[in-house]
Amino acid sequence: MMNNELKAKIEELIPQLAVVRRDLHKHPESGWTEFRTASLAIKKMRELGYTVTMGKDAVCKEAMMGVPAPEVLKRHMERAVAQGADPELVAQMEGGLTGFWADMDLGGEGPFLAVRFDMDCNDVTECADADHRPNVEGFASVNAGCMHACGHDGHTAIGLALAEVIASLRGQLKGKIRFIFQPAEEGVRGAMPMEKAGAVEGVNEIFGMHLGFQANRMGTVICGTKNFLATTKADVTFTGVPAHAGNAPEEGKNALLSAATALLNMHAIPRSGKGDTRITVGKLIGGEGRNVIPPKAVLVLETRGITSDLDAYMFGEVKRIAKAAGDMWGCGCSIDIKGGTKSGESDLEVAKVVAEEAREMGCFDKVVEEQNFGASEDYSHFMSTVQAAGGKGTYVQVGTSLRAGHHNSHFDFDEQTLANALELMSRCVWRTLAK
Ligand SMILES: [Zn+2]
Repeated sequence: MMNNELKAKIEELIPQLAVVRRDLHKHPESGWTEFRTASLAIKKMRELGYTVTMGKDAVCKEAMMGVPAPEVLKRHMERAVAQGADPELVAQMEGGLTGFWADMDLGGEGPFLAVRFDMDCNDVTECADADHRPNVEGFASVNAGCMHACGHDGHTAIGLALAEVIASLRGQLKGKIRFIFQPAEEGVRGAMPMEKAGAVEGVNEIFGMHLGFQANRMGTVICGTKNFLATTKADVTFTGVPAHAGNAPEEGKNALLSAATALLNMHAIPRSGKGDTRITVGKLIGGEGRNVIPPKAVLVLETRGITSDLDAYMFGEVKRIAKAAGDMWGCGCSIDIKGGTKSGESDLEVAKVVAEEAREMGCFDKVVEEQNFGASEDYSHFMSTVQAAGGKGTYVQVGTSLRAGHHNSHFDFDEQTLANALELMSRCVWRTLAK
C-alpha cells in the first residue's frame, strides 16, 4: 500500500540515511552510555513534533543491569558533550538513563502502534585496514574500543527517517504511534527497564527490525522471526580464604576449585525434554599467584532457553550448583544478574502483512514469512509483553550483504539496505495506521 505522497517523502529522505548513519558510526556509544546518540535523536524527534518521555521516566533505574561505574559514565557524558551533544539533555540522562520514547497522537480512533530501534554499539575496536570502507570514506569510529559492529547506527538512522515520514503525513493517519529508542541491546539489558517504566503499556501492535543478521544478502527479507531464545546473563563470584600454598594450604579456602567444580557441573546440567537449552561459562577469572590458595574466582556465564520457562530451569540449576560448589570447598558464593530477556515469537498474521508489502516493493527476491532465530534480542521482551496484554507484533530482518559477521571488527553493510528498510517499515506503519 503506497500512495504518491508517501513514496515522494521516502525518496526525499533516502540521501539523509547514510549521512546520519555515518555520523553515528563515527561516534559509537556502548550500552547505557548512548548520551550523544540519544540527545541527537531526542532533539530531532522534538523538532518533528513528537512528545518525548526520557530519563528516569523512560528507564526504571532499579531494573538496570550491567551499568558502567559512575566514573565511566561521567567520562562518557563529557565525551558526548565534546562531540556535540546537548549538555542539558545529557544531564537528564545521568546514571546511564539513555533510553527514551517519542509519541505522536494522530487523532481519531485507531491502534496504538510502537516501533522499536536500538542505539548502542559493541565493545569492539574497529579494524584499521586501509580497505575497510569506514576508513576509506572517513567515518570510522573515533571512540576507542567502541564500534557499531551490529548495524544499530543504521537502525537509529532508519527510526529517525521513519519518524519524519510519519510526522509529515500525519493528516492521513489515525491512532497513535510511539518510537522506542532503546539503549543497551548488547547484553540484552535495555528493554526490561524500559518496559518496567511503561514503554509498551497500552500498545496494541509492535514492530522491530534488524539489518542483516540472518538476512545476510541483499534481496532477502525475513518478515517474522520466531524462537527468540530467552536468556539470563550472570556473574557468579566465589569467595574463599588465601593461604600459603607450602606451609599452610589447609588454612585456605580455594575459590578457584569452587569455580572449576561449578563450571564442569553447570555444563553437565541435564537437558530438558521440553525444548532447546544452552549454557556457556564464557570466562573464568580466578586466583592471585602460583603459591597462594586462590581467595576469589568469578564465572562469567549465560543460560538460554527456547522458552522463558526453559531458561528459568537452566538458571535455577546454575544457582543450585553454584551454591553447592561453594559449600563443597568452604567458599561463599554470590550471583549478580547482568542481563536477560524473555523468549518470543512473531505473530504470523503480522509477518504475512510485512511479506505482502515486501513483495510489492520489487527489490526483494527472497521474501521469508517466518524463520527460527536461535539467538537472543531483547526486542522479544517488548514483543512478549505486548502479546501477553492481547496485542501482536513482529520482528523483521532486512537483507544486506555483509563485509564480515556481526560483532566483527571488519563489519560493514551495504547502505542500500537503509533505503529498503525505510520503505518497508514506512509501508508497514502506513498500512497499520492509514485512515
Ligand atoms: Zn544487533
